Amino acid sequence: MRHVYALAELYLRHGDVEAARDAYLASLDADDGLAVLQVPPEAVVEAAQSRKRAPRCKRCGARLSRKRRQRCSRCGVTTA
Ligand SMILES: [Zn+2]
Repeated sequence: MRHVYALAELYLRHGDVEAARDAYLASLDADDGLAVLQVPPEAVVEAAQSRKRAPRCKRCGARLSRKRRQRCSRCGVTTA
């Protein structure tokens, strides 16, 4: 899992999952490199998004507005 967060960090910096992966692989040995190659790009993007702490609905995952972050506009669930 630590690889996912390291990749997410690089992804935010490079703006591209493959560029992040290349940069990260350069700093690893073969065993870690293999693990990093198995991380799906979606997992990296997801980790990067949660790192940016975009508020999301806990029930349906919709992005919440900044003004009304406690109430989901899609499913109406209220999170305190
Ligand atoms: Zn919702």
